[in-house]
Amino acid sequence: MDNHIKVGIMGGTFDPIHYGHLVTAEAVRYKFNLAKVIFVPSGNPPHKEARVITEKKHRYLMTILATVTNPNFEVSAIELNKEGYTYTVDTMKEFKTIYGENFEFYFITGADAILEILKWKDIDTLLNLCNFVAATRPGFNTKDLADKLEYIKKTYDKDIFRVEVPSLAISSTDIRQRVAHGEPIKYLLPEAVERYIQKNHLYQE
Ligand code: ATP
Ligand code: MG
Repeated sequence: MDNHIKVGIMGGTFDPIHYGHLVTAEAVRYKFNLAKVIFVPSGNPPHKEARVITEKKHRYLMTILATVTNPNFEVSAIELNKEGYTYTVDTMKEFKTIYGENFEFYFITGADAILEILKWKDIDTLLNLCNFVAATRPGFNTKDLADKLEYIKKTYDKDIFRVEVPSLAISSTDIRQRVAHGEPIKYLLPEAVERYIQKNHLYQE
């Protein structure tokens, strides 16, 4: 019997966090019987340079506001407290050190992120550090994902789990654009986050 305590890690820019992230984390937590899911807002991800990312403080507080009502969710500022680029492999090494041998990690991503995963820093090391769960998300090509998972299996001898989540076509990009255009964002994300965005005049351009 495997007596590891299983913990989910939900990484993201969370600019802003929305129901797509929350529903996915809860579905994976339930399916894999995870003790909890730790949301990890990214610090300075090297791949998101095309646009200016909202201040760390705001993304952290929105993530706290969104997760506070779920007793099985928590938030870590581990990446926000670092200077320079942050990489998932370094973050996972730190979690392994902090938690020790009795814990097993499940890194939760959308399928779109899995398609890019081979570009991540030290991917071979990272695949050995934790399990990966790819949530299917609307608008991506299933054949691409199947091909990618097969390649990862062949090359790294690693199985990536797949989970179907309720089809939520919600994205942070869409929410930011809606705010900028004065369109409603209600019911796409928790009300506290919506209020926080209004109060701090985020995404208004
Ligand atoms: P952006 O539009 O700025 O890229 P995003 O909505 O994709 O934002 P991220 O913070 O980039 O959100 O995503 C964090 C993680 O959540 C990624 O693994 C991503 O694939 C996943 N994710 C994002 N939106 C959804 C959704 N609607 N359903 C399931 N997973 C999602
Ligand atoms: Mg994204």
